[in-house]
Amino acid sequence: MALDKVLVYAETEGDAASTATLEMLTKARELAGSVDAFYAGPHADAIAADLGAHGAGKVHTVDAGDALPGAPVAAAVADLVGAEGYNAVLFATTYDGRDVSGRLSVRADSPVISNAVGLALDGDALSVETVIFGGTKVVRSAFRSGSVAIVLVRPKSFPAEPSGGGAAEVVSAALPDVGAAGNPKILAKHVEELEGPKLEDADIVVSGGRGLGSADGFKLVEDLAGLLGAATGASRAIVDAGWVPYSKQVGQTGKTVKPNVYIALGISGAMQHMVGMKNSKIIIAINKDPEAPILAVADLGVVGDVHKVVPPLIEAIKAKQG
Ligand SMILES: Cc1cc2nc3c(=O)[nH]c(=O)nc-3n(C[C@H](O)[C@H](O)[C@H](O)COP(=O)(O)OP(=O)(O)OC[C@H]3O[C@@H](n4cnc5c(N)ncnc54)[C@H](O)[C@@H]3O)c2cc1C
Repeated sequence: MALDKVLVYAETEGDAASTATLEMLTKARELAGSVDAFYAGPHADAIAADLGAHGAGKVHTVDAGDALPGAPVAAAVADLVGAEGYNAVLFATTYDGRDVSGRLSVRADSPVISNAVGLALDGDALSVETVIFGGTKVVRSAFRSGSVAIVLVRPKSFPAEPSGGGAAEVVSAALPDVGAAGNPKILAKHVEELEGPKLEDADIVVSGGRGLGSADGFKLVEDLAGLLGAATGASRAIVDAGWVPYSKQVGQTGKTVKPNVYIALGISGAMQHMVGMKNSKIIIAINKDPEAPILAVADLGVVGDVHKVVPPLIEAIKAKQG
């Protein structure tokens, strides 16, 4: 059994389709006979090749200009879902994904399942896996067949693999008038400055926790990451303490990462942190407490003070790199 039609809400990162969009398209191919995308923004043609290469037949598009997308775009998606009979609509867990999916839920009179990490078919219904209690329990919920399944998917839940398909056909969709709900405008956009690779896509991640001792201690993380060409991450403790921005937080309420190497400096390994990094290929942890939970999952654990272990490590790498 397969679903007839799945719609993936596409978003961009810079000028390209976001990795999360390509991950959802890849998974949707397994679930449905027909997969399309919906893109709200200008220049859908610029991402049509990438969307098509990952499985989208069509990309329906609207451009809401400088209007806050939530209300008008949700109305456009709802009209399309009604007209075309999509069985499921997949969104990535992003600010716009949350906004549009919630409003679509009201319009389509169908619930949203958020935080999905797995999707499968249960007969002719869509079954969704979510994790609870810091990733220790998996919950499977199925939408009743016949209802529109609306799902918010966590990035990095599936690999993004091209299908070899050609560019998706770009089709303009109608943007309904939603009255006063369409009035909020975006006045300015700020792109966060990024040094080094992106946390979610990096091959190597170096993360720091409260064991660094102070905001200045994060320099150890930055120096090590700089030498390794790694992205920097953090535990929530030091995000809450204001040492680093939230965009660096790894874990249940932060980002999910899956690098080849994850290096944790002074992080205890609370469940809520581990759920965001436990699928890393190799985990290296430096912690002065031999009982720290992170050492139980580490492939290489160093029991020691980060301030004593990491500086000589940095010097040794510098010497090796010449
Ligand atoms: C609903 C909810 C959601 C949450 N979401 C997240 C999330 O997304 N991400 C997240 O990270 N947390 C999250 N948390 C918080 C989580 O429970 C932990 O409190 C947090 O991860 C702890 O951060 P930490 O390991 O840096 O600090 P601590 O738990 O304080 O650990 C510090 C570690 O550093 C070690 N240490 C101390 N000094 C040194 C030194 N000099 N050298 C080496 N090691 C040293 C200590 O032995 C200790 O193991 C969440 C909590 C809740 C309730």
